[in-house]
Order: sequence, then structure tokens, then C-alpha cells
Amino acid sequence: MRSLPDSNIKNIVIIGGGTAGWMAAAAMAKLINHPNINITLIESEVIGTVGVGEATIPHIRSFNHLLGLHEDDFVRKTNATFKLGIEFVDWDKLGKSYIHPFGPYGVPMNGVRFHHYWLRQKHGGSRVSVDDYNLQVMAAKAGKFSRPQNIPNSPLSTIEYAFHFDASLYAKFMREFSENLGVKRIEGKVCDVKQVPETGFIESVVLENNEIIEGELFIDCSGFRGLLIEQTLKTGYDDWSSVLPCNKAVAQASKRKNAPLPYTRATAKSAGWQWRIPLQSRTGNGHIYCSDYMSDSKALETLIDGMDTDAIGSPKFLNFTTGKRKKIWNKNVIALGLAAGFMEPLESTSIHLIQTAIARLMTNFPDKNFNEADINYFNDRSLLEYEQVRDFLILHYKATKRDDSEFWNYCRTMTIPESLKERMAIFKENARLYRHDNELFGDASWFSVFNGQGIEPARYHPNANIMSEDEFNSRMSSIQTTWSACLKSMTSHERFIEQLCSSEM
Ligand SMILES: Cc1cc2nc3c(=O)[nH]c(=O)nc-3n(C[C@H](O)[C@H](O)[C@H](O)COP(=O)(O)OP(=O)(O)OC[C@H]3O[C@@H](n4cnc5c(N)ncnc54)[C@H](O)[C@@H]3O)c2cc1C
Repeated sequence: MRSLPDSNIKNIVIIGGGTAGWMAAAAMAKLINHPNINITLIESEVIGTVGVGEATIPHIRSFNHLLGLHEDDFVRKTNATFKLGIEFVDWDKLGKSYIHPFGPYGVPMNGVRFHHYWLRQKHGGSRVSVDDYNLQVMAAKAGKFSRPQNIPNSPLSTIEYAFHFDASLYAKFMREFSENLGVKRIEGKVCDVKQVPETGFIESVVLENNEIIEGELFIDCSGFRGLLIEQTLKTGYDDWSSVLPCNKAVAQASKRKNAPLPYTRATAKSAGWQWRIPLQSRTGNGHIYCSDYMSDSKALETLIDGMDTDAIGSPKFLNFTTGKRKKIWNKNVIALGLAAGFMEPLESTSIHLIQTAIARLMTNFPDKNFNEADINYFNDRSLLEYEQVRDFLILHYKATKRDDSEFWNYCRTMTIPESLKERMAIFKENARLYRHDNELFGDASWFSVFNGQGIEPARYHPNANIMSEDEFNSRMSSIQTTWSACLKSMTSHERFIEQLCSSEM
């Protein structure tokens, strides 16, 4: 193996062994594989992990691919199920629900996106739901699943999916993977941090037993406390609670539902919302709420009332402030996971933000000089990414007609960022959707939430009017027929798991 120049970083220290810490360890062990580079992870069983974070988005599959994981094995060992999207219940108004699917609606025709044709159909008096043109939504409602199939031009080839998994089993899985690749794990609590006096860079951390762990690069995965990024470096936090007001959660597991459904459910409540995440072994439930409008005891009562299976174990309460660190990379510390920020789990984006931060770190991996321009670039891109996700989340709260509680009155009337205001105005006008800078959520996502939240555009793309009535009707009905035939060919989600990746195998 080639020897490394002095300027290369040789000691990487990760603080924290939750999802963020072990994902970082796994990716770095895979990609920075050299006998003279040491990756050490310190975690404290006494402090423990947050223990939630069980719904993902499709990009996690590329992380698994990077690590070279066998997907069935991964699903089996994490008690996972498959996820085709999220059902939002009671968000626009009580009694109404919609699914935000991972995959596309219909197909673009003559260079015009499909949703404009659906709007043409709707403006012409049709009552066909846009759901009937989205295979993921159809499959979710029917409890069916398939991985994408290699059938050219078929919607079966475009299926996008993610997973629901047990967070503690996921961290364990990542730990095994990392340790097999040489990551050293140290059990212990960091109780002191030493900085280089001239620069403020972190030099070492000290454990309760006085052991000193030195490093050149520190990855802060210590959760909400942000041990290095905040407690030591005082980086500062952008507080977004005026637009994402929920600040508490109570999580409670319950028994497994017989046939686990291939989607997450998010049900709006009077001061927040409740999640339901189906796993192979149990159901994950939780209630995200705003303490200005609801007490902890009422939040727990609401959660239990809204669960569809019996509770297992005890509830766990968590506090948070939505927002992000002013810098995610400060000096020689990069914060990942909850140490970097938290925007609440409505669209299951936190694990994804860990993944993209790891990818961005690998692209801009420093040497001991810690080039300021790379750090600024990393921080600027991270801020943009967080703001784009933030806007998408706010849309769910802002675009509501609910006026049955103080919480919803606040959300409906709150001042939102200009960036979102502009997007909403454009969509209302002519149904156009702009994907900025390769942002996480694409057209289908923005459309499904705009439409699901009851925002009706005044017009649609003028070129969607060009196709003759006969051709238009025939193409729309052919899409529906093809999509229905594809749905028929899919197997039930439960059977799919039983046959290929049951955790009881
Ligand atoms: C209510 C809720 C629901 C969520 N749902 C989702 C979801 O569905 N999908 C999603 O993508 N994300 C979700 N998230 C976010 C997700 O849980 C986190 O992004 C993910 O678990 C990463 O957490 P973490 O590793 O940053 O922190 P933690 O799990 O809190 O881990 C912190 C680690 O740091 C260690 N540590 C802390 N201090 C010290 C110390 N002094 N010495 C040694 N070790 C220390 C702890 O022992 C622990 O190992 C949710 C979050 C919350 C709060």
C-alpha cells in the first residue's frame, strides 16, 4: 500500500454511535481504506441514542449500493418493510387524505409534464383522480409492491421505493459492517475536549476514564447536544421554529399489523401530527407536536388513541428546536445527523441529510490544511439543501384550510420564506414547478403536495391544449389501462417480504 504524505489526515474520530455516527463510519471505512488511516468511533451506552428515525426516502438505496449491501439481507436484519410514499391524512382539511408517492405521475407528452394534461382533463369536467396515473399510489392503496422491473417504457421500470426499518437494528447493522472494515469502537463518555490554543481546532477528546483520543478530523454525531460543534465551538443555531413550530415528540411502539402496508402514514392532529411506520416486527408510532398548544399528557393520550394496534413498552418523549447549525463544518469538526440540525420527520429527510453530508464530505475531504474555500463551499451547499427541504415541509403546514385549532390557525396565517411564497404563487397561477439546483424534491413531489393540500392552479401549460380531443382522450385512457395492468401484475407487499426477505427466515 502506498505510504501517505504528512499532510494527509490519519486519525478520524467520530463522536456518537447513532444512525449518523455509524453511517459515517461505514461510508468512510469503505471509501478511505488505508492501514495508516484510523477511524475511531466513541459512543456511550449510558447516554444511548435517540432511538427513532425509521422511515427513509429512496436515495438510501444508493448509500446501500455504495456499501455493497445485499438488499434482502439488509431488509431481513433490520426488520424492514418497503415504502412507496407517505399518506397525509387530515392535512388540507379533516376527512381528506392524499399520498405523496416516490415515483412519477403518468408520462410527459410533447415535452409537457403530465400533471398539466391531468389538469386539462380536470378543467374539462373529469373526476378521474390523479392517483390513477401514479403506480406507486395505486400500489400503496392496494398493499402491493414490486422492485423496478427491466421492461422498457413500462411504469414498472420506474418504481421508486425506500424502507421503513428498526433504527436500533440499523445502527447495529452499520456497526457490524464498519467494525469488519477496521473501525475501532470505544465505549465511553466524552467529558472534556481539548483545543489547540492558537486556532481553536479540536486536538483531542477525553473520556471519563481519562483516556485521551487524539484526532485531526472530528465528526460530531453526538445528537441534539452537538458536543463539539456547539458545546465546544459555539457555532450557533438558525432557529426555524417560527415556520416549523413543532418542538416535541412522543414515540411509542405498538404491535405489528398483520399485513404491513408499504407506506408511512402522517395524520394531522390538533397541534401537530402522528406517524405510523410499519415494520416486520412491530409498528412505530409517534406524535410530533408544539408545546405552546398541547401538554405532554394530552399528546400521549392523542397518540395512543390514534394507534391501530396495542402499545408495546413505554413511551419516549423528546424535545427539539427545528433549524440547523450556522455552519455544519466549523474548523476541523463536521456535524452530522441531529448535531447538524433537525427539521422534524414529516418527509423522512433526516437520514437522507446525513447521507448527503457524508457524500459532500467525501467530495471535499480535507487534508491537514483545511482549505477555507472547501469548507465555505460545503457550508453553502448544506445551507441551500436544508432551506429547500425546509420550504417543502412548511408547505404542508401553510397550505391548509384547517381552522379547528389555534395551532392550525397559526400555521395557516404564518409568514413563510419568500422562496416558498414565490413557488406557491407560480403554481397557483399556471401549475408550473421549478426544480432549483437539483434539489431533493422533484416535480412529482411538489405537485402531489400542492394538489393534495388543495391548491388549485388557475391555468395549466398552454401547450397541453394542443393535442386533439380524440388523441388526448385516447392517450389518457391508455395510460390508465396500462397502469392498471401493471398494478395487477404486482404481488402483495406482505407476500413479497415473506418470499424474499422475511426477518423470520
Ligand atoms: C421524533 C423523531 C422522529 C424521527 N423520525 C425520522 C424518520 O422517520 N426518518 C428520518 O430520516 N429521520 C428521522 N429522525 C431523525 C433521526 O432519528 C436522526 O437523524 C438519526 O437517528 C440520527 O441521530 P444521531 O445519530 O444524529 O443522534 P443519536 O441517535 O442521538 O446518537 C447520538 C450518539 O452520540 C453519543 N453521545 C452523545 N454524547 C456523548 C458523549 N458525551 N460521549 C460519548 N458519546 C456521546 C450517544 O451515545 C449516541 O451514540 C427523527 C428524529 C426524531 C427526533
